[in-house]
Amino acid sequence: MALEMKQWEHGTDSDDDQDEIKTSVVLRSNISNVPVAFQIDVKRKTGVCSDCLLLQVTNCQSNVIFQSFLRHGSTSRHRSFNCPSDILKTPLVTVTVFSVQTKEVNKRVWYKVKNGGKTLSKLVGGVTINYMDITLQPLGTYLDLLAADTKQVPYQVDVISISPRRYMLTDLKHKEKHTDTFIITLYQIHPPASWIMFHRGSATTYEIPFDLKPATQYKLQLFRVRTEHANDDMYIGYSHSTVTTFITHMTKYEVLELYNKAAHFLSNSPPTLTNISHFYRNKSEEYFSNIMRTDGVMHKYDKNWGGDQASTLNKQVQGLFFSAAVDPVTRLPPDVSYFGPLRLHVPTNVLLNNNINMYFSDFYCHYVNHKVQLVFTVKGSPTDDFCRQRLVLVDQTNNPFLTRVRCGFTEIVRVTMNVTVEIFYTEDVPVRAMVCRSNVFFTTTKQKGNALVMVNGIPKNKNCRICNLDCFLLAHAMIS
Ligand SMILES: [Zn+2]
Repeated sequence: MALEMKQWEHGTDSDDDQDEIKTSVVLRSNISNVPVAFQIDVKRKTGVCSDCLLLQVTNCQSNVIFQSFLRHGSTSRHRSFNCPSDILKTPLVTVTVFSVQTKEVNKRVWYKVKNGGKTLSKLVGGVTINYMDITLQPLGTYLDLLAADTKQVPYQVDVISISPRRYMLTDLKHKEKHTDTFIITLYQIHPPASWIMFHRGSATTYEIPFDLKPATQYKLQLFRVRTEHANDDMYIGYSHSTVTTFITHMTKYEVLELYNKAAHFLSNSPPTLTNISHFYRNKSEEYFSNIMRTDGVMHKYDKNWGGDQASTLNKQVQGLFFSAAVDPVTRLPPDVSYFGPLRLHVPTNVLLNNNINMYFSDFYCHYVNHKVQLVFTVKGSPTDDFCRQRLVLVDQTNNPFLTRVRCGFTEIVRVTMNVTVEIFYTEDVPVRAMVCRSNVFFTTTKQKGNALVMVNGIPKNKNCRICNLDCFLLAHAMIS
């Protein structure tokens, strides 16, 4: 069998993505009796912004992945590669062609996909010719080039943020014998973009070598492969991952956009500030009795997945949630809670004082009420450093959400009643010691709803036009 790829390209030699490329793939049976089962010939014309082609052949049943590059400027534009015989165990293959541009910074190389196309083909054995036409479309709209056959398997992989726009893949492990490389395909949903990266060697982490767009949804797919001919960039693999979706964190700019949206929302109704003396936290009786039975300290833990899905705090910062919300009628904390029937009240000056920085981190809603999330950090702490890079520092004496106002020798804390103000306090709270000093106390409230769901966090309402980032609303409209 031979596969011959011809490409006709129209357009200028520019960096725009609008080059129209037609690729013709011809599968021919190999009449000669050479031991290779399948041969691929690639032909292309030169002169567009992409500088090489990636060809991917996935076999639906034996799950062989065959990938190869044709480089621009190689001595011959017509090249042949041997493909393993098991590609022909089944006649059905998916052929995907990526037209890519090579990027290199600090000796790290990756490929930006400029155009792509894929087709399913049934290879007919014997002395036959199979014609396939693949039109390589510019990635101006989302193209689903992800591999999706029945043998995809979940790979253990996690994507973590290592600086405001940089991300790292972790847990990369070679499970099958003889694989030495991960091929990583990354898709940005809106605006559409795609990259292909190669991670060689046994390191279990891979830093994506370029900035990702903040607050944006990405899809990731991995291929465990074996390098067949290093010089030809030819790889063979027997599995590929299911698709992992992740959303990049907001940077300071997106958080500022949410801050402005929250401030604008509050400016539309008359200010209703009320004085509060305590912040409070509702949990189950078991939660508090466990604390009192052990070291008496309420330990901080990872933020749940509630609020904005791109929240920079998700899985990054530890803390404890408190509320500053009051009932607009009674001006007291509401007598019901979603989080548990026991309520701990802590004086405002214990959690918010001159040693504390206050950051705005989120504005969101689930159904009706809008919520603003503020983060309290101890000045100069590692969490404070983290938040300073990513969140909006709030003037504690002048902001629309929660203020400290000097009043003679005392200080008054005021909170708006037009949104629910949540506090994420990023230190441990020594409850037992505080109870002994009797400046904190417990009350009981009625439990409402399912506490476990609330504890895990409810994602933000994606359809709300008041509290979603403009880029999310745009991407959401494009997908749905
Ligand atoms: Zn909303």
